[in-house]
Amino acid sequence: MGDSQNAGLALKFIIIGASVSGLTAAIALLKAGHSVIILEKDPQLGGVGSVPNGSGCAQLPPNACKILLDWGLEAEIQATCAPVSGFSVYKYGAGDLSDPDYLGINLWDPEMLIEARGGYMQLSHRALIRILHDLALKSSTASSSINENETRLSVVSGAEVVSVDCDACSVTTRLGDIYKGDVIIGADGAGGIVRRILMDEEDLSPEDDILTGIAAYSAIVPNKSVVENAALKPLFDAQPGCTLWLGSNRGVRTFPVGQEHDVSMLIYTTDSSQDGTWIQEAEKKLPDILGPCNEYLRNMAQSTGIATCVQIKEHCKLDSWVTESGKVVALGEAAHPLPPGSVHAYSIGMEDGVFLGKLFSHITDHDQITEFLHAFQEHREPRCASIYQMEKDYIYQITLPDGEVQVQRDIAMRARGERGENVLGGDLQEMMEDFRMVFGYDAMDDADEWWMTWGRYRDSSARLSQSEGNIFNMLFASMSSNTCEDVGQEEGEEKHYVHEFDTHDHDI
Ligand SMILES: Cc1cc2nc3c(=O)[nH]c(=O)nc-3n(C[C@H](O)[C@H](O)[C@H](O)COP(=O)(O)OP(=O)(O)OC[C@H]3O[C@@H](n4cnc5c(N)ncnc54)[C@H](O)[C@@H]3O)c2cc1C
Repeated sequence: MGDSQNAGLALKFIIIGASVSGLTAAIALLKAGHSVIILEKDPQLGGVGSVPNGSGCAQLPPNACKILLDWGLEAEIQATCAPVSGFSVYKYGAGDLSDPDYLGINLWDPEMLIEARGGYMQLSHRALIRILHDLALKSSTASSSINENETRLSVVSGAEVVSVDCDACSVTTRLGDIYKGDVIIGADGAGGIVRRILMDEEDLSPEDDILTGIAAYSAIVPNKSVVENAALKPLFDAQPGCTLWLGSNRGVRTFPVGQEHDVSMLIYTTDSSQDGTWIQEAEKKLPDILGPCNEYLRNMAQSTGIATCVQIKEHCKLDSWVTESGKVVALGEAAHPLPPGSVHAYSIGMEDGVFLGKLFSHITDHDQITEFLHAFQEHREPRCASIYQMEKDYIYQITLPDGEVQVQRDIAMRARGERGENVLGGDLQEMMEDFRMVFGYDAMDDADEWWMTWGRYRDSSARLSQSEGNIFNMLFASMSSNTCEDVGQEEGEEKHYVHEFDTHDHDI
């Protein structure tokens, strides 16, 4: 796929956080010939904490899957992922164990998946981290025409970054080690230090994040428990294997995880105020937060391992993903957090990493760093914002409180199900159409497009300005002063970067 291209200038990147966004960015930057140091606060990649078997399930919709395929990971995908073709929809609180109240089925259009050049896959969080980590190591040893003899990747675990000097472009870990680079990437999540620095610069505080009152509980049912439970097994044997349960202020999704065919159970509930993390055991047991529910769900909740609980928050929006110093950037959850359990929780961070790496495959001069980081935000932000809105709407729809709107939703779903049509329709179908657009996105192509449309012209004009020296500069100065007059800009007023890149439609 021609994704390896050495940049004209090799830079040293410090990445804070060795999770999905951090590792993906590292791979893309290594492929572009740069050096990377990744600092991870947890002693073990993929997180363990008080959840030794992990509760996390990574959803890889086609836009994420194709990134792995383009990186030659087809065999790993086949060996570790469970493919998903759609989901069956049930009512949360009705029906008994043998006869849950079924509304209908929704299948991903196979043509859409082919068009999008990737399947819909699910695997454990930890398995994905291992795959990305292995590929990062491999990419660091692939030959590079620049800095041939340098070790281009170090991954340091147990290295919590406790301070960042944005001007000096250095970080200090809790153990007192100092690392210095050309660029710092904050892939350290929504609660990370880089997001905090950006918030401080904008006079925002974590108290500005708003709790929605809904928490996401997550746990894994081991395959053995499903296979040995005569009541649970038939539902998972039935295609497509994923289920969605609609309740009042509650919703549940279950989906197969990995080739082991464990089952991930994700519950949205208003019955918990714990502000937990993905590596911290939930204070309440799953059966205690289910409320009135179908016996099938209760039975499944009793079969899960340790659960985690993460609150859904409306995180405050950052105006800038780049610090005032112009050398530190946030990506993934650190830049634009999504609600836990979102379809695109993983894919959007992976796209960020690929996009950033591809951008920096074109760097030829240190002076371009800040501009490239701002271009990253400008180009990625509209897509991230629209996906965020879709994910929010989706959770709202599946947890609709009982009432007239919910009654109409269920009647319509049931009717479509009885006609043998996809059960989602109306607002939800529109949402599915949006997903169709989102699935088709290709982060590498988008970054290439940015370069072909904007970046290379700026690059060649910069080169020209160097080679032509004073004469060109004088000419350029007179031209730009005319332009300032044309647009009514004050003489001497600095022109902000956003005016220099025209916005254009993004393929979402
Ligand atoms: C164990 C685990 C399981 C998960 N399971 C799910 C799931 O089932 N469903 C879901 O939707 N999402 C899950 N998530 C969240 C999911 O990983 C993210 O939503 C998404 O992948 C994008 O993540 P990210 O890489 O941007 O940030 P994150 O995944 O949040 O990663 C941030 C990384 O930065 C590290 N870090 C933070 N602060 C520092 C510091 N100061 N110094 C060094 N390192 C630091 C963290 O330890 C972490 O590894 C899980 C996360 C973890 C850690």
